Amino acid sequence: MAVIIAPMADIVSRSGPVFEAMPGLVTDLGGFPIRRLLPRSRRRLVGPWCFLDAFGPVDLSASGGMNVGAHPHIGIQTVTWLFDGKVRHDDSAGGAGLAEPGTLNVMTAGRGIAHAEVSEAPGAGRLWGAQLWVALPDATRDADPRFHQHRDLPRLDLDGGSALVFMGALGGVEAPAKTFSPIAGAEVRAARGATLAIPLDRAFEHAAVLVEGEASIHDRPLSPHTLYDLGAGRSELIVTAGDAPARLLLIGGAPFDEEILMWWNFVARKPDEIAKAREDWERGRRFGDVAHPGPRIPAPPYVARPVPSRR
Ligand code: MN
Repeated sequence: MAVIIAPMADIVSRSGPVFEAMPGLVTDLGGFPIRRLLPRSRRRLVGPWCFLDAFGPVDLSASGGMNVGAHPHIGIQTVTWLFDGKVRHDDSAGGAGLAEPGTLNVMTAGRGIAHAEVSEAPGAGRLWGAQLWVALPDATRDADPRFHQHRDLPRLDLDGGSALVFMGALGGVEAPAKTFSPIAGAEVRAARGATLAIPLDRAFEHAAVLVEGEASIHDRPLSPHTLYDLGAGRSELIVTAGDAPARLLLIGGAPFDEEILMWWNFVARKPDEIAKAREDWERGRRFGDVAHPGPRIPAPPYVARPVPSRR
Protein backbone atom coordinates (compact mmCIF):
# COMPACT_ATOMS: atom_id res chain seq x y z
CA MET A 1 0.00 0.00 0.00
CA ALA A 2 2.48 2.62 1.06
CA VAL A 3 5.87 3.20 2.51
CA ILE A 4 5.24 4.95 5.78
CA ILE A 5 7.88 7.19 7.22
CA ALA A 6 6.68 8.86 10.39
CA PRO A 7 8.02 12.29 11.31
CA MET A 8 8.00 12.03 15.07
CA ALA A 9 8.20 15.71 15.93
CA ASP A 10 4.82 16.61 14.46
CA ILE A 11 2.78 14.24 16.50
CA VAL A 12 0.39 16.19 18.67
CA SER A 13 -0.43 15.52 22.27
CA ARG A 14 -3.53 13.41 22.59
CA SER A 15 -4.30 13.14 26.26
CA GLY A 16 -7.41 15.34 25.97
CA PRO A 17 -10.09 16.32 23.45
CA VAL A 18 -8.94 17.90 20.22
CA PHE A 19 -10.75 18.79 17.00
CA GLU A 20 -8.41 18.66 14.07
CA ALA A 21 -9.44 18.30 10.42
CA MET A 22 -7.18 16.14 8.27
CA PRO A 23 -8.35 16.15 4.63
CA GLY A 24 -7.86 12.79 2.93
CA LEU A 25 -4.95 12.35 0.54
CA VAL A 26 -6.09 11.14 -2.86
CA THR A 27 -4.09 8.12 -3.98
CA ASP A 28 -4.45 5.80 -6.91
CA LEU A 29 -4.71 2.14 -6.03
CA GLY A 30 -4.15 0.34 -9.32
CA GLY A 31 -6.45 2.64 -11.27
CA PHE A 32 -8.95 2.89 -8.44
CA PRO A 33 -8.91 6.23 -6.61
CA ILE A 34 -9.00 6.15 -2.82
CA ARG A 35 -8.58 8.70 -0.08
CA ARG A 36 -6.06 7.88 2.61
CA LEU A 37 -7.26 9.19 5.95
CA LEU A 38 -4.93 7.25 8.27
CA PRO A 39 -2.02 7.16 8.99
CA ARG A 40 -1.24 10.84 8.75
CA SER A 41 1.88 12.71 9.68
CA ARG A 42 0.16 14.18 12.74
CA ARG A 43 -1.89 11.17 13.64
CA ARG A 44 -0.46 7.68 13.19
CA LEU A 45 -3.02 5.77 15.21
CA VAL A 46 -6.50 6.25 16.64
CA GLY A 47 -6.55 3.68 19.42
CA PRO A 48 -5.33 0.55 17.59
CA TRP A 49 -6.71 1.75 14.21
CA CYS A 50 -3.60 2.31 12.08
CA PHE A 51 -4.94 2.60 8.53
CA LEU A 52 -8.07 3.97 6.89
CA ASP A 53 -8.69 4.24 3.17
CA ALA A 54 -12.05 5.58 2.00
CA PHE A 55 -13.30 4.99 -1.53
CA GLY A 56 -16.28 6.03 -3.57
CA PRO A 57 -19.04 6.41 -4.15
CA VAL A 58 -17.89 5.37 -7.63
CA ASP A 59 -20.16 4.42 -10.50
CA LEU A 60 -19.00 0.99 -11.62
CA SER A 61 -20.24 1.58 -15.16
CA ALA A 62 -17.52 4.22 -15.49
CA SER A 63 -14.83 2.44 -13.47
CA GLY A 64 -13.37 -1.00 -13.44
CA GLY A 65 -14.03 -1.05 -9.72
CA MET A 66 -11.68 -2.57 -7.22
CA ASN A 67 -9.47 -5.49 -8.15
CA VAL A 68 -6.70 -5.94 -5.62
CA GLY A 69 -4.78 -9.11 -6.37
CA ALA A 70 -3.17 -11.43 -3.84
CA HIS A 71 -1.04 -9.58 -1.32
CA PRO A 72 0.19 -10.42 2.18
CA HIS A 73 -0.38 -8.96 5.63
CA ILE A 74 1.14 -9.46 9.06
CA GLY A 75 0.39 -7.97 12.47
CA ILE A 76 -3.07 -6.53 11.83
CA GLN A 77 -6.75 -7.18 11.36
CA THR A 78 -8.22 -5.89 8.12
CA VAL A 79 -11.74 -4.52 8.35
CA THR A 80 -13.85 -3.97 5.25
CA TRP A 81 -16.95 -1.84 5.73
CA LEU A 82 -19.13 -0.89 2.78
CA PHE A 83 -21.80 1.77 2.31
CA ASP A 84 -22.78 0.49 -1.14
CA GLY A 85 -21.76 -2.31 -3.46
CA LYS A 86 -20.10 -5.65 -2.81
CA VAL A 87 -16.47 -6.73 -2.41
CA ARG A 88 -15.45 -10.36 -2.55
CA HIS A 89 -12.68 -11.53 -0.21
CA ASP A 90 -10.59 -14.69 -0.73
CA ASP A 91 -7.64 -15.59 1.47
CA SER A 92 -4.89 -18.15 1.82
CA ALA A 93 -6.39 -19.62 4.99
CA GLY A 94 -9.48 -20.70 3.09
CA GLY A 95 -11.59 -17.72 4.09
CA ALA A 96 -14.02 -16.27 1.57
CA GLY A 97 -16.95 -13.92 1.78
CA LEU A 98 -18.81 -11.09 0.18
CA ALA A 99 -18.73 -7.81 2.12
CA GLU A 100 -21.79 -5.64 1.57
CA PRO A 101 -23.56 -2.87 3.47
CA GLY A 102 -24.28 -4.05 7.00
CA THR A 103 -22.00 -7.08 6.68
CA LEU A 104 -18.52 -6.90 8.19
CA ASN A 105 -15.52 -8.69 6.71
CA VAL A 106 -12.72 -8.95 9.25
CA MET A 107 -9.48 -10.81 8.65
CA THR A 108 -6.95 -11.41 11.39
CA ALA A 109 -3.60 -11.57 9.62
CA GLY A 110 -1.65 -12.51 12.73
CA ARG A 111 1.67 -14.07 11.71
CA GLY A 112 0.78 -14.01 8.03
CA ILE A 113 -2.00 -14.36 5.49
CA ALA A 114 -2.57 -13.32 1.89
CA HIS A 115 -5.84 -12.18 0.37
CA ALA A 116 -7.44 -10.64 -2.70
CA GLU A 117 -10.34 -8.21 -2.84
CA VAL A 118 -12.48 -7.72 -5.91
CA SER A 119 -15.63 -5.66 -6.26
CA GLU A 120 -18.60 -7.51 -7.70
CA ALA A 121 -20.83 -6.58 -10.62
CA PRO A 122 -18.46 -4.42 -12.68
CA GLY A 123 -20.42 -2.21 -15.01
CA ALA A 124 -23.39 -1.83 -12.70
CA GLY A 125 -24.13 -0.04 -9.47
CA ARG A 126 -21.90 1.82 -7.09
CA LEU A 127 -18.99 0.97 -4.86
CA TRP A 128 -18.53 2.95 -1.68
CA GLY A 129 -16.79 2.04 1.52
CA ALA A 130 -13.76 1.92 3.73
CA GLN A 131 -10.83 -0.38 4.31
CA LEU A 132 -9.33 -0.22 7.77
CA TRP A 133 -6.52 -1.92 9.65
CA VAL A 134 -6.24 -2.59 13.35
CA ALA A 135 -2.77 -3.06 14.86
CA LEU A 136 -2.49 -6.23 16.94
CA PRO A 137 -0.83 -5.96 20.35
CA ASP A 138 2.57 -7.58 20.67
CA ALA A 139 1.23 -10.44 22.78
CA THR A 140 -1.22 -11.57 20.09
CA ARG A 141 0.28 -10.40 16.82
CA ASP A 142 1.46 -13.92 15.97
CA ALA A 143 -2.13 -15.19 16.21
CA ASP A 144 -3.43 -17.75 13.74
CA PRO A 145 -4.66 -16.12 10.53
CA ARG A 146 -8.46 -16.23 10.32
CA PHE A 147 -11.31 -14.67 8.40
CA HIS A 148 -14.77 -13.96 9.76
CA GLN A 149 -17.89 -12.45 8.39
CA HIS A 150 -20.51 -10.90 10.66
CA ARG A 151 -24.09 -10.08 9.73
CA ASP A 152 -26.90 -8.76 11.90
CA LEU A 153 -24.62 -6.37 13.74
CA PRO A 154 -25.89 -4.74 16.94
CA ARG A 155 -27.33 -1.26 16.83
CA LEU A 156 -27.14 1.44 19.44
CA ASP A 157 -30.43 3.32 19.23
CA LEU A 158 -30.15 7.01 19.93
CA ASP A 159 -32.65 9.84 20.02
CA GLY A 160 -32.61 11.09 16.40
CA GLY A 161 -30.49 8.30 14.96
CA SER A 162 -28.46 5.19 15.59
CA ALA A 163 -25.01 3.65 15.47
CA LEU A 164 -24.36 0.26 13.90
CA VAL A 165 -21.45 -1.16 15.88
CA PHE A 166 -19.13 -3.28 13.72
CA MET A 167 -16.01 -3.51 15.92
CA GLY A 168 -15.65 -3.43 19.69
CA ALA A 169 -18.19 -1.61 21.79
CA LEU A 170 -20.05 1.69 21.79
CA GLY A 171 -22.47 2.83 24.48
CA GLY A 172 -22.61 -0.67 25.97
CA VAL A 173 -23.46 -2.30 22.63
CA GLU A 174 -20.90 -4.95 21.71
CA ALA A 175 -20.05 -6.17 18.23
CA PRO A 176 -19.40 -9.91 17.78
CA ALA A 177 -16.08 -9.72 15.93
CA LYS A 178 -13.02 -10.92 17.80
CA THR A 179 -10.85 -8.00 18.86
CA PHE A 180 -7.48 -7.88 20.57
CA SER A 181 -7.50 -4.55 22.40
CA PRO A 182 -10.23 -2.12 23.49
CA ILE A 183 -11.72 -0.63 20.33
CA ALA A 184 -14.83 0.92 18.80
CA GLY A 185 -15.96 1.13 15.18
CA ALA A 186 -19.45 2.23 14.17
CA GLU A 187 -21.52 3.67 11.35
CA VAL A 188 -23.55 6.54 12.75
CA ARG A 189 -26.77 7.74 11.15
CA ALA A 190 -28.56 10.93 12.10
CA ALA A 191 -31.98 11.93 10.81
CA ARG A 192 -32.35 15.25 9.00
CA GLY A 193 -31.94 18.09 11.49
CA ALA A 194 -31.47 15.69 14.42
CA THR A 195 -28.96 16.09 17.22
CA LEU A 196 -27.43 12.89 18.57
CA ALA A 197 -25.60 12.44 21.84
CA ILE A 198 -23.29 9.48 21.30
CA PRO A 199 -21.87 8.01 24.50
CA LEU A 200 -18.10 7.52 24.29
CA ASP A 201 -15.53 5.77 26.44
CA ARG A 202 -13.50 8.60 28.01
CA ALA A 203 -10.39 6.45 28.00
CA PHE A 204 -10.55 6.04 24.21
CA GLU A 205 -9.16 8.20 21.46
CA HIS A 206 -11.68 8.85 18.70
CA ALA A 207 -11.90 10.11 15.14
CA ALA A 208 -14.83 10.63 12.79
CA VAL A 209 -15.41 10.92 9.05
CA LEU A 210 -18.51 12.44 7.45
CA VAL A 211 -19.64 9.92 4.87
CA GLU A 212 -22.90 11.36 3.59
CA GLY A 213 -25.07 14.44 4.09
CA GLU A 214 -24.16 17.41 6.23
CA ALA A 215 -23.30 17.35 9.90
CA SER A 216 -21.50 19.14 12.66
CA ILE A 217 -19.74 17.86 15.74
CA HIS A 218 -20.21 20.08 18.77
CA ASP A 219 -21.42 22.80 16.36
CA ARG A 220 -18.36 22.60 14.13
CA PRO A 221 -19.35 21.82 10.55
CA LEU A 222 -17.69 18.82 8.92
CA SER A 223 -16.20 18.63 5.43
CA PRO A 224 -16.47 15.40 3.47
CA HIS A 225 -13.46 13.16 2.79
CA THR A 226 -11.78 14.39 5.96
CA LEU A 227 -10.66 12.63 9.12
CA TYR A 228 -11.57 14.56 12.26
CA ASP A 229 -9.21 13.75 15.07
CA LEU A 230 -11.25 14.11 18.26
CA GLY A 231 -8.53 13.23 20.76
CA ALA A 232 -9.29 11.44 24.01
CA GLY A 233 -11.16 12.25 27.22
CA ARG A 234 -14.63 12.66 25.71
CA SER A 235 -17.60 10.98 27.35
CA GLU A 236 -20.05 12.15 24.71
CA LEU A 237 -20.06 13.28 21.10
CA ILE A 238 -22.76 15.67 19.94
CA VAL A 239 -23.53 15.21 16.24
CA THR A 240 -26.09 17.40 14.48
CA ALA A 241 -27.33 16.62 10.98
CA GLY A 242 -28.09 19.34 8.44
CA ASP A 243 -30.91 19.49 5.89
CA ALA A 244 -30.39 15.89 4.84
CA PRO A 245 -29.81 12.69 6.81
CA ALA A 246 -26.16 12.32 7.76
CA ARG A 247 -23.90 9.32 7.96
CA LEU A 248 -20.56 9.18 9.75
CA LEU A 249 -17.85 6.65 10.41
CA LEU A 250 -16.71 6.70 14.03
CA ILE A 251 -13.54 4.92 15.15
CA GLY A 252 -11.84 4.81 18.52
CA GLY A 253 -9.95 2.75 21.02
CA ALA A 254 -7.69 2.69 24.00
CA PRO A 255 -4.38 4.44 23.20
CA PHE A 256 -2.08 1.88 21.61
CA ASP A 257 1.06 2.22 23.64
CA GLU A 258 3.32 0.10 21.50
CA GLU A 259 5.68 1.45 18.88
CA ILE A 260 4.82 -0.10 15.53
CA LEU A 261 6.51 -0.23 12.17
CA MET A 262 4.32 0.01 9.07
CA TRP A 263 5.79 -0.82 5.70
CA TRP A 264 3.70 -1.76 2.66
CA ASN A 265 1.12 -4.24 3.96
CA PHE A 266 3.05 -5.22 7.04
CA VAL A 267 2.83 -4.02 10.62
CA ALA A 268 5.62 -5.21 12.90
CA ARG A 269 8.03 -3.92 15.53
CA LYS A 270 11.50 -4.38 14.06
CA PRO A 271 12.91 -3.76 10.58
CA ASP A 272 14.18 -7.32 10.27
CA GLU A 273 10.64 -8.63 10.76
CA ILE A 274 9.52 -6.49 7.84
CA ALA A 275 12.45 -7.60 5.69
CA LYS A 276 11.73 -11.26 6.51
CA ALA A 277 8.02 -10.92 5.71
CA ARG A 278 8.90 -9.27 2.39
CA GLU A 279 11.36 -12.01 1.54
CA ASP A 280 8.86 -14.72 2.49
CA TRP A 281 6.26 -13.14 0.19
CA GLU A 282 8.69 -12.76 -2.69
CA ARG A 283 9.83 -16.38 -2.34
CA GLY A 284 6.33 -17.77 -1.99
CA ARG A 285 6.77 -18.83 1.62
CA ARG A 286 4.64 -18.40 4.76
CA PHE A 287 1.59 -16.72 3.25
CA GLY A 288 0.04 -19.45 1.11
CA ASP A 289 -2.03 -19.21 -2.04
CA VAL A 290 -5.12 -17.21 -2.85
CA ALA A 291 -7.90 -18.06 -5.30
CA HIS A 292 -7.65 -15.05 -7.59
CA PRO A 293 -7.11 -15.13 -11.35
CA GLY A 294 -4.71 -12.22 -11.51
CA PRO A 295 -1.04 -11.97 -10.63
CA ARG A 296 0.16 -11.67 -7.05
CA ILE A 297 1.15 -8.16 -6.12
CA PRO A 298 4.93 -7.96 -5.79
CA ALA A 299 6.43 -6.21 -2.78
CA PRO A 300 8.20 -2.93 -3.49
CA PRO A 301 11.96 -2.82 -2.89
CA TYR A 302 12.73 -2.59 0.78
CA VAL A 303 15.05 0.37 0.81
CA ALA A 304 13.76 2.76 3.42
CA ARG A 305 14.44 1.87 6.99
CA PRO A 306 11.08 2.38 8.64
CA VAL A 307 10.93 4.98 11.32
CA PRO A 308 9.08 3.88 14.43
CA SER A 309 5.52 5.11 14.46
CA ARG A 310 4.34 6.29 17.84
CA ARG A 311 0.96 7.54 18.74
MN1 MN B 1 -5.22 -6.22 2.09
